[in-house]
Amino acid sequence: MLDAAFFRRWLVSAAALVDREAERLTELDSPIGDADHGSNMQRGFAAVAAVLEKEEPDTPGAVLMLAGRQLIATVGGASGPLYGTLLRRTGKALGDTAEVSEQQFADAFRTGVDTVAALGGAAPGDKTMMDALVPAVDALGESFDAARAAANEGALATTPLQARKGRASYLGERSIGHQDPGATSSALLFDALAETAGGEGGPR
Ligand code: ADP
Ligand code: MG
Repeated sequence: MLDAAFFRRWLVSAAALVDREAERLTELDSPIGDADHGSNMQRGFAAVAAVLEKEEPDTPGAVLMLAGRQLIATVGGASGPLYGTLLRRTGKALGDTAEVSEQQFADAFRTGVDTVAALGGAAPGDKTMMDALVPAVDALGESFDAARAAANEGALATTPLQARKGRASYLGERSIGHQDPGATSSALLFDALAETAGGEGGPR
């Protein structure tokens, strides 16, 4: 079972990973965007880590809802409201129980991803974070490691795609040949999730 402390550890480790990879995320956002994805994610997740340490919400749902609200409040780019909605909606779907199963988390995350799809209007193949999030949530019921692999594969597979949503879509065919920054940051979130789960000596 996964408790509030697990979700806090996940998001704090995601913040550290985003911080380490911020330069790369911004580099990916340079040719097909406005070179701010790394700094957006860095600022947003630093604020998430800070608020979680200060408030220590005591259910998984409360952790994710607080983190989502914080991302929406601190990130100006498209990715802030999208990731913020993802975490907030996932948290809301988890309700107020003290512990959730991995399957409950997978189901709630599916609700979150569906809400992001409705909000952003993007589907897999449009060269956005959905190209990592959808395969990851499909694999999440299997294991955190499977979700991590699927997210990373999905992020790499955005390179040959032409962007149909977001800022990169303005470039038309010139968006081809570049990996999507948002799909890459989504993969980082799943790297952090698998590491958080693996580091506990559990079955994953
Ligand atoms: P901005 O594009 O406002 O500068 P960021 O650079 O922080 O915001 O984030 C860009 C990323 O957001 C893209 O790489 C893409 O993955 C994601 N994105 C943009 N628009 C959408 C959308 N409509 N649906 C899903 N993801 C999107
Ligand atoms: Mg940008």
